[in-house]
Amino acid sequence: MVRSAAVRHGLSAMSGKRVNRRQFVSVSVAAAGSAALCCAPAIAQGSAHVVVIGGGFAGATCARQLKRLDRKIQVTLVETNPTFIACPFSNAVIAGFCDLSAQRFTYEKVAADGIALAAARATAVEPGARIISLADGQRLSYDRLILAPGIDIRWDALPGYGEAAAEQMPHAWKAGEQTLLLRRQLETMEDGGLVVISAPANPFRCPPGPYERASLIAHYLKARKPRSKLIILDAKDVFSKQRLFQSAWKELYPGILEWVPLSSGGNVTSVDPNTNTLVTDFEKYRANVANVIPPQRAGGIAERAGVADVSGWCPIDPVTFESRLQANVHVIGDAAIAGAMPKSAFGANAQAKTCAVAVVKLLRGETPLSPKLINTCYSLVAPDYGISIAGVYHAVDGQLTEVPGSGGVSPSDAPRSTRSAEANLAEDWFRTTTAEVFG
Ligand SMILES: Cc1cc2nc3c(=O)[nH]c(=O)nc-3n(C[C@H](O)[C@H](O)[C@H](O)COP(=O)(O)OP(=O)(O)OC[C@H]3O[C@@H](n4cnc5c(N)ncnc54)[C@H](O)[C@@H]3O)c2cc1C
Repeated sequence: MVRSAAVRHGLSAMSGKRVNRRQFVSVSVAAAGSAALCCAPAIAQGSAHVVVIGGGFAGATCARQLKRLDRKIQVTLVETNPTFIACPFSNAVIAGFCDLSAQRFTYEKVAADGIALAAARATAVEPGARIISLADGQRLSYDRLILAPGIDIRWDALPGYGEAAAEQMPHAWKAGEQTLLLRRQLETMEDGGLVVISAPANPFRCPPGPYERASLIAHYLKARKPRSKLIILDAKDVFSKQRLFQSAWKELYPGILEWVPLSSGGNVTSVDPNTNTLVTDFEKYRANVANVIPPQRAGGIAERAGVADVSGWCPIDPVTFESRLQANVHVIGDAAIAGAMPKSAFGANAQAKTCAVAVVKLLRGETPLSPKLINTCYSLVAPDYGISIAGVYHAVDGQLTEVPGSGGVSPSDAPRSTRSAEANLAEDWFRTTTAEVFG
């Protein structure tokens, strides 16, 4: 029943403006699922169509890399938003020393590479039939599907915190309006006010992100509202680059920034947006500005595609990034369970390239090689004070694990000139990566 509807719908929807008809393998062929065709490599048949859902750091990179590796592959990128707004450096926007316009990127250059853009939200995936549905009524068939939808907020995880509450207590964990809202709240706050940030338990997007944000807001308060205070309520006792952050806070923001770990009652159990109150097991914090970073999960389409497990994230094979739950569907970026790799734009970019190589090989009927992936996460503690953590990852026993001795963090006793050089490296990384992905 569903399949015949798919065929009916699919053929009529293929004249959609943004996606060229020849970009698609015929839905009727895909729906027929011919046993004779299914075992032959798709490229050998000259008809490979890869659909990528999500045009962020992972998805846009992967789409372009696929085209670079083999121009014959038809690639469609499905993305809801006409422009992408990047999270890295959005904390600098919140602190007032970068503009949101520098975070915006268009898909013009992606399309110029010969990638078909479907400017719509993907609403459903039928892995058996290898068909996806879009909110505008189109249905696309694929040989391989790459899911790169990033994260969604778990709106049901923190009592009191829903979409309406986020208008009062912004999360700003997806860049855009939420980023600007938090910025405005800080600007209008009186000197002497209290800013409270709640940081979630692992795993979540950008492990050092809450602490970079706290640092940069403290920088703003120190300069502009020095009688104010910032408290981080944390659902954890340890966090990324902790020693480096804490020693920088002691040096730069004494008396301004306080971190309350889980073991000291930092876990936020509910919030009240009417009074801007965050409740922990021990205390209530009434904030002038409340930045609630709530628990997260893979972007919703992952669950609808059947590739997310009970954790809300997507288990994958670490060599090909193919889902462990659905054949011919790959998951990259924040949505994936990538073992020891953190959920970062740097990592998403690396996973996307690895996945593209593997998908091309699979389409040719070849065996993908086991990859090595690099990640570096830079954080700013002040505009001219950068720190970083790096690692190299490889597949061991079905998991991405850090190569022993490969990584490390910035030295704890480095002079300010090194911190300043790392702040420049962070900016260089952002510029070169966004140029590679969107430029
Ligand atoms: C404050 C902050 C600071 C950060 N700083 C850094 C940093 O300095 N360095 C770093 O490496 N990382 C940083 N990160 C993390 C980084 O932003 C993410 O790890 C990265 O964006 C993940 O890439 P992604 O492609 O998986 O997801 P995203 O970049 O979020 O892209 C997902 C895309 O999928 C689209 N999408 C979702 N669902 C659908 C659907 N159903 N149909 C169509 N399109 C869909 C979305 O619109 C979006 O464009 C930071 C994050 C935050 C919040």
